[in-house]
Amino acid sequence: MNYPVKLAGIFKGRSMDFLFDMIDVAYLERCTMEGLKRTKHHAELELHSAEFWNNDADFVFFTEYLEAVNCAISRKRYDERKTRPIINSSRIPAADVKERLDIVAVIGEYTDLRKTGNRFTGSCPLHPDLNPSLIVYPDQQSWWCYSCNKGGDIFDFIQEYDKITFPEAVSKLAGVR
Ligand SMILES: [Zn+2]
Repeated sequence: MNYPVKLAGIFKGRSMDFLFDMIDVAYLERCTMEGLKRTKHHAELELHSAEFWNNDADFVFFTEYLEAVNCAISRKRYDERKTRPIINSSRIPAADVKERLDIVAVIGEYTDLRKTGNRFTGSCPLHPDLNPSLIVYPDQQSWWCYSCNKGGDIFDFIQEYDKITFPEAVSKLAGVR
């Protein structure tokens, strides 16, 4: 049985049997995520076309097909999450995290920093601070507060602010729980 499909695309000129073969879960499971996204895009185009031409059979078919593709996508996403290796936070090299992040951007998330010469100043977010006593040194990637007499690197800051341990601070800044 030949089934006319109006839009040019991967389905053009294919028979209805071929289209139903494609719904086959095994076929969709073999698709890569990129392949599935392309298939979804084509199915959406065809669905739009079916809707436009008010062809009920096409419309029902492509709605079901799109649903099957969406199921395959969620399933693949779920499988990918399951197989992703668990990152042990204690193995994250602190030096790598430190190199990747800029101390001005990190502390800038907690308080407004103003550039004065080759340093930045701002109110210390570790306590109520009326006069800006926090100084951030981008060259040394360090900070110092003249009110609380504390300072250090990005990890020291996060440890102070969140009251957490060094590995926890490394983990937090690495974006890993
Ligand atoms: Zn302070």
